[in-house]
Amino acid sequence: MQTSTATTASIMAFQSLVNEIHDLNATQALLGWDLETHMPEKGSAMRAKQMATLAKLSHNLMTSAEMDEHLRHLRQPGIPEKLDTMSQALVREVGRSYDKSKKTPLELLQEMVETTAEAHNIWVDARANKQFKQFEPVLRKIISLNQRLAEAQGYEDSPYDALLDEYEPGLTVKQLDPLFAKLKADIVPLLKAIQDSGHSPEAGFLHEGFFPAEKQLEFSRKVLTDMGFDFEAGRLDLSAHPFSSGSSSHDVRLTTRIDEHDVFSALSSSMHEGGHGMYEQGVNPVLNRTPLAEGTSLGIHESQSRLWENQVGRSRAFWKHYFPKLQETFPELKNVTAEKFYHGINRVRPSFIRVESDEVTYNLHILLRYEIEKALIEGSMKVDEIPEAWAAKAQEYLGITPSNDAEGALQDIHWSHGSFGYFPTYTLGNLYSAQFFHTAKKQIDGLEDKIGHGELLPLKNWLNKEIHWVGKMENAAAIVQRVTGEPLNARYFVDYLWGKYGEIFKISR
Ligand code: ZN
Repeated sequence: MQTSTATTASIMAFQSLVNEIHDLNATQALLGWDLETHMPEKGSAMRAKQMATLAKLSHNLMTSAEMDEHLRHLRQPGIPEKLDTMSQALVREVGRSYDKSKKTPLELLQEMVETTAEAHNIWVDARANKQFKQFEPVLRKIISLNQRLAEAQGYEDSPYDALLDEYEPGLTVKQLDPLFAKLKADIVPLLKAIQDSGHSPEAGFLHEGFFPAEKQLEFSRKVLTDMGFDFEAGRLDLSAHPFSSGSSSHDVRLTTRIDEHDVFSALSSSMHEGGHGMYEQGVNPVLNRTPLAEGTSLGIHESQSRLWENQVGRSRAFWKHYFPKLQETFPELKNVTAEKFYHGINRVRPSFIRVESDEVTYNLHILLRYEIEKALIEGSMKVDEIPEAWAAKAQEYLGITPSNDAEGALQDIHWSHGSFGYFPTYTLGNLYSAQFFHTAKKQIDGLEDKIGHGELLPLKNWLNKEIHWVGKMENAAAIVQRVTGEPLNARYFVDYLWGKYGEIFKISR
């Protein structure tokens, strides 16, 4: 099959338009990184203007007549099949974003921006005062805007599907419900058994002592280097909240936060962000300057960070190699053994705050939010019913009841941002990571032994080849099927938890 001259011209012009849009977005991301890391305080007002200008330019190009013309031509029946696979994927992905932005009325978008800008401060105050009532009016508005957004985008079964699709393309309530049901059925009894075991690992040594920031940073950089993070194509800096961003596979920015009275949290968050960053560095460089280089979905992205943070960074094998090195760096740990340290970082106890929770209880926090979000968007729960529903679910799943709204419905920033449908991608990340790691152990000879000797590159290379390289050329479902030979299955995560914590707490199913 031959592509016509008109099609060749159109695909070339389309690609250069996509490149320009991506350059604007990448520059905006770099300005955002700078804002969180190095920008002097007085720079913030001008920085907001600079970023808004870039966003407007990018939006104008994305919705331009030129873009419309190219997509119209390139999506005609018979044309996509004649394109090479990268061009096909590019037309599909850019077309998808284009359709979404066309379906969203501009006034709805503006109302969302204005409402959430205002909501942020209201949420900060309400949380400080521990008063959900204060947040209710603006939250009601945000939910109604999200419902309108879902109607505008369209859906088959639940309006919540339209919102999920923003973060995890193709994911639906129909697929999520059984995954969460399995987690609930298997993790609630696991937590109960852990609590009944009478074993509560000691963990005070993680906070007892002074662990200087420079030494912590140096240790994190060493581990990231061993993991295969390329410091010639990336950096690690400090920020108030850890994140990763970047402008291409050759320039990835990670941040971490250091508490000089906590020996583990900065390293753990560096490994987490390193997993995100290595995903971006591992994408085929041919895809740079296009959205295909960004990673296929939030859930798959989160699987890469969780895999390094938990499957590796909270494993006995990893600490067999790294604990003596940590001890050398921080003599405060001289009376602690590797085994004691391993138990300490895997202590399990229900807490009110999601971001402080352990591997066992984490997804119960997400389940609670998922059920509430879905009910709010579907209209079966009212905003003023949230605190009571929250307390009941916290009691049922975690066995604890928050004593105020700051420990309950006001703890997360997401709703004030207008983000509904985002939380489930955290759990998807955990589930994908266990399924990928299970496959990695089958395919890489003696993987755990290698990790136990500080050889982390075989795992990194496997992830590069199996998951990172394709970027967004394949969607999440296709990647999981190709790599693991089956669709997403919660069993791997549940088995991982029972195996690991069963051994630590000497309990069985
Ligand atoms: Zn993450």
